[in-house]
Amino acid sequence: MRGEDVKHISRVLRLKAGDAVQLCDGRGSECEAVIESVAPDSVTFRTQPWTGAKSEPDVSVTLFQCLPKAGKMETIIQKCVELGAARFVPVQSERCVVVLKPPYEGRVERWQRVSEEAAKQSKRGRIPEVALPESLNRLDFSAFDTVLVAYENERTVSLKQALRAHPCRKLAVIVGPEGGFSEDEIAVLTAKGAVSVSLGTRILRTETAGMAMLAQIMYEVEP
Ligand code: SAH
Repeated sequence: MRGEDVKHISRVLRLKAGDAVQLCDGRGSECEAVIESVAPDSVTFRTQPWTGAKSEPDVSVTLFQCLPKAGKMETIIQKCVELGAARFVPVQSERCVVVLKPPYEGRVERWQRVSEEAAKQSKRGRIPEVALPESLNRLDFSAFDTVLVAYENERTVSLKQALRAHPCRKLAVIVGPEGGFSEDEIAVLTAKGAVSVSLGTRILRTETAGMAMLAQIMYEVEP
């Protein structure tokens, strides 16, 4: 092992040869290991067989989050990584207060670092990816078995009902910005197969909605 994690092992955690650790490749696998040697720029390990990470949920949830006001995306990513989200797609929609201008890479790299920190802290087996921003009308849902859009004006279908009525292996969830969705946007999303769901009778802030959805999805599908 090389790079930042070496510094963390030798200087911060002050681990030595013989100490037991758990390694994770950030892509869903983990293993038990014992440190063999610690040098200033490298650490070597004796490893047990690699297995699928136990902390990874069976359901893969991608959060399509319409861009919130400054600073909130960081909170959303951090909390939703803790709650088990698999991937994030920032979305530009009609009523977003913030309009991101290209190049997006710097902003997305910062969000990716937030995801990595949260994944390490919560001992995830996988570091959730933060994708480049996309516009709401161009979203592609072909990779998902179920797409749920949290709509503040939905009166009939609850998230719970939708989760029980549809397959839940590869889920997409869409959350609107502070200003909510327009009717046209909901029409576009439902035409592409999204199911409009209610999160209850109270209106949640945009940064609360994704977290609430993740928590309810995991409650419903985890053993
Ligand atoms: N400005 C809007 C509320 C937007 S809340 C209004 O006053 O009606 C921001 C986003 O959170 C919404 O677009 C929706 O995706 C989600 N959300 C918040 N509360 C919700 C609820 N009770 N049901 C479904 N979605 C909700």
